[in-house]
Amino acid sequence: MSAQQILAPFDGWCSVLDEVPDPVFSGRMLGDGLAIDPTSGILVAPCAGEIITLPASAHAVSIRTAQGIDVLIHVGIDTVQLGGRGFDARVRPGAIVRAGDELIRFDLDVVARGAKSLMTPIVVTSMDGLSLRLCRAPGLVSAGDLLFEIAGTAVGTAAAGIAAAGTAMAANIATSTPSRADTPANEPAVGQTLVVTLRQGLHARPAALLAQRAKSFGAQASLGAHGRAANARSVVAIMALGVRQGDELSIRASGADAAQCVASLVAGIQEALRLESAAGHGAAADSSRTALDSSKTASTLAPRSLPADGVLGGVIAVAGLAVGRVARIERREIAVTEHGAGAAHERAELDQARVNVRARLERVAATGGATRREIIAAHLEFLDDPQVNEAAHDLVAAGKSAGFAWRAAIRRSIGALEALEDSRLRERVDDLLDVESHVLLALAGEARPMNIPLPERAVLVADDLLPSELTALDGARLVAICLSGGGATSHVAILAAAMEIPTLIGLGAGIRNVADGATVIVNADTGTLQTAPTAAAVEQARAAVEARLMRREQSQAEAQTECRALDGTRVEVFANLGNVMDAAAAVVNGAEGCGLLRTEFLFIDRETAPSESEQLAAYQSIAAALGPRPLILRLMDVGGDKPLRYLPLPAEENPALGLRGVRTSLAYPDLMRTQLRAALRVQPSGSVRLLIPMVTDVAEILAVRGIIDEIKAEIGIHARIELGAMIETPAAALTASRLLREVDFLSIGSNDLTQYTLAMDRGHPQLAGRTDALHPAVLQLVAAAASAGVAAGKLVAVCGGVAADRLAVPILLGLGVRELSVVPAAVPAIKHQIRSLRINDCRELAMRCLELASAAEVRAAVARSIGPAGETP
Ligand code: PEP
Ligand code: MG
Repeated sequence: MSAQQILAPFDGWCSVLDEVPDPVFSGRMLGDGLAIDPTSGILVAPCAGEIITLPASAHAVSIRTAQGIDVLIHVGIDTVQLGGRGFDARVRPGAIVRAGDELIRFDLDVVARGAKSLMTPIVVTSMDGLSLRLCRAPGLVSAGDLLFEIAGTAVGTAAAGIAAAGTAMAANIATSTPSRADTPANEPAVGQTLVVTLRQGLHARPAALLAQRAKSFGAQASLGAHGRAANARSVVAIMALGVRQGDELSIRASGADAAQCVASLVAGIQEALRLESAAGHGAAADSSRTALDSSKTASTLAPRSLPADGVLGGVIAVAGLAVGRVARIERREIAVTEHGAGAAHERAELDQARVNVRARLERVAATGGATRREIIAAHLEFLDDPQVNEAAHDLVAAGKSAGFAWRAAIRRSIGALEALEDSRLRERVDDLLDVESHVLLALAGEARPMNIPLPERAVLVADDLLPSELTALDGARLVAICLSGGGATSHVAILAAAMEIPTLIGLGAGIRNVADGATVIVNADTGTLQTAPTAAAVEQARAAVEARLMRREQSQAEAQTECRALDGTRVEVFANLGNVMDAAAAVVNGAEGCGLLRTEFLFIDRETAPSESEQLAAYQSIAAALGPRPLILRLMDVGGDKPLRYLPLPAEENPALGLRGVRTSLAYPDLMRTQLRAALRVQPSGSVRLLIPMVTDVAEILAVRGIIDEIKAEIGIHARIELGAMIETPAAALTASRLLREVDFLSIGSNDLTQYTLAMDRGHPQLAGRTDALHPAVLQLVAAAASAGVAAGKLVAVCGGVAADRLAVPILLGLGVRELSVVPAAVPAIKHQIRSLRINDCRELAMRCLELASAAEVRAAVARSIGPAGETP
């Protein structure tokens, strides 16, 4: 029989099971396999089979293959406690699925905040008769990559399944002493019934404990509930019983050591109870802490004891590595009295407090960089928010104190934000809390200190952090941030990225047990916090930090400066972005702006269109993360292969040739108007440049320009808005000089231009090797667009994937392209390469390549010319 392949159920970082911060998994009590720290929230089937378990909480799923192999995927650690929050099951138990079918969707942020770790074990739960061959070393994986292979024949899986309970399954043999019952085979059996008091019922961890105990006896043991029975040695079968808190559970066993087996299983339930309560009520190790004022109520996360190996798993908000000493911060609740001293007095107090806070925030903004200024600008908006102020004034008029009214008004807005599905907007909650505490402190006649002292090489540990708290810390002493909660796109994460401070969030309540002053290793590349590292590990990590610093200083120093070719020709290197995290990464990597913001991320995979305010918040936060760098916002490129559930787009025979890009926008102008209103309202006014996708003729540009002008008039914007057209169709490339009369710049989308020029689907697996943008036909079109740009004196950029292709860069520059927009991580390398090129050499090389017969010939010619290291000889 051929080996069963188990594929990655999502994108993420693959690790060995030993690294899972849960002894049940790392000790392989639930089975053998690998673990992945997910970076996407869509879990797909790792193999074909039948869904055996998928509890209501949807945090885990097990599949049985045709060969009877049971594979369990447990999303994160301790996620059963979320009770389904953040999870959405896409199939039901009993469903037959194919490898790659979607099984569960989960919200990474919600799960990361509520769980001990996102590390997800993928294990074969019964290895009897089977052998496992790992096919993947630790590192990044994509959904569908091969993880491991299982060979052999599964033993006893059928028996491990759930059988209808026999009549002899004594439902009421609940005695403290095991009682005798008859099995169908009339074998003597002992049994006991108890009520399960475990808060989460028999989920994976208690099931593993029980199965492990059952396996150590010769007796045949089974568990029964809801009129069904399960082999006590099978984790999957136990989980499939669906035993919840308060359910009756029968344990029975037959064979020589049956009585001991039953007693051991009962003890197993008690052990699980002990573990559950230890996880819920571990004591926090307290010591001297840096006190921060805040109106924020304490987190409701219960502290947990640290895992035995002292390693906590979190979500990477800012990548990096650091070694330092823990500095904990804690907040002081700001008390407010409910009743005011007269409406006029309280109103005046509130207004004066807001004036003081405004002055103070403006002072703080002046002391920091662009990111800080942009975030404070957002706080000033909240301070003046008409809805918040109106609500506060109403409460003051009803007799409440200024502080009580302000807090209640802010909390009302927070409630509204928290109810939203969009995690990016939910993360604005911290900004509101920040503004709340500023005003409450001002009302109390205090102000948040501008600078909070930290010890040298401090690793800040907290439940969460407000933006103003971070800016008040001494950044020079701060080497890392570790939060039990937090959000990856929060302003704190953006600030931390701008300050280049490795940051882990969602580490769970366990970090409360990390002692103040302890030396820890923060690995924000793998998402782990080592709370009790050995001296050798600390030494090793310190050396690695030093080496990284040196390397980074070299390439980063180079990357942050403007980019010129060897002969002095200026070439701008921008970054393609999809969200605010990308924007932070782009800045760190030295991108000079955003050449392509793919706004589709806001529109797809949801039930309703994003509102204007939601879009504005998203665009503004990206603009804030970019600071003064230009932001080119591409109008939504939906339709075709990116359908929207809320748009009745017709089924099309050739979606790539149908309603997509600007065609969709013009077909649904209301959607485009909302997007344009949001884009044009981004501050500073007129700063966003707009880019039209999938242009085929001038009429499309004129139509969009007309709508832009109407909206500018509607919302009172006078600034000139720069408009660009994407060159993604041969039609656009060949009429570039005509298009350039209506736009300010062109941006070549080589991904689509290649697909439409070569008539090859860009996603076709069998054509992948041939859809090459260096095909001379594509290059001819790039040349046409670029020379039209040169003639018109307007910029021609390339934002398709070819811009980051080392062999393409000299050709593109040789053809006249002067801006490349690439993924953020590629910016330093592309800048480095450009600095080694002479434009005249590039021009000559490009001209030769235009005459060649195939992409392979072009690649060979460039490789000969620039050499393996990318230097022009
Ligand atoms: C392109 O087509 O090259 C492009 C940049 O757009 P997208 O990849 O988003 O279609
Ligand atoms: Mg495209």
